[in-house]
Amino acid sequence: MSRKRALPNTQTPQPRSRRMPIGLCPLILQPAPKAAHPPLPPEKLAYSFTVPGEPEAVGIARDNARTSLRAHGLKDIEVPALQIVGELTAAAAHFAPSQSLYISLRWREGSLRTIVWDPHPRTHHDPDDTRTCVSHRTRLLLLLGCVVRECEGTWGLSEPGETSEGTRVWADIPRAGATSYALRQF
Ligand SMILES: [Zn+2]
Repeated sequence: MSRKRALPNTQTPQPRSRRMPIGLCPLILQPAPKAAHPPLPPEKLAYSFTVPGEPEAVGIARDNARTSLRAHGLKDIEVPALQIVGELTAAAAHFAPSQSLYISLRWREGSLRTIVWDPHPRTHHDPDDTRTCVSHRTRLLLLLGCVVRECEGTWGLSEPGETSEGTRVWADIPRAGATSYALRQF
C-alpha cells in the first residue's frame, strides 16, 4: 500500500511582528460609547402628547414614556410607570375609540404623576348612568389600582365639574415605593 505524501505547506508564515495579539484587537480596545449628555434632572420631567384611541395607542404611549423616563435618569421606576401608562391608555381607548387621547407625565415632589384624558363624558344626565360608567371604568383599571397600591401611590378620577368635558384619570407614584416595587418584580 502506498501512502499519500503529505502536501507541502505552501502558506507563507507571517512574520511575528505582523501578527496581531488578541489583546490589541481594535474591536476589543474600542471604548464603550459614552452617553452624549448626562440625564436631565427628574424635576424637569414634563411631557404631554396625544395618541389616537386605537389598539396601537398603548405601545406608542409606553414607548414615549420610556424615552422620557430614561432621559431623566428614571429607569428605576420604569416597570410600574409603563404599566400605569399602558393601563390608563388602554382604558381611555376603550371609552373613546378612534378619538384623541391626551397623556401627560410630570415630576413633582419626588413622585411621577401620570394623567390620561379622554373625551368620554365624566358624568351623564342620569346619575345611575354615571355610577355605572364609573364602575365600569374602575373595573377596567383594577390592575392599575394594584400597581399604584404596591408603589404606595394614589390614583383617581377627576371630580365631576373639575374639567369642562371628558374624563381625566391620574396616578401618582413616589420614587421610593416605585423603585421597591420594580425590584420585587425580578
Ligand atoms: Zn359613560
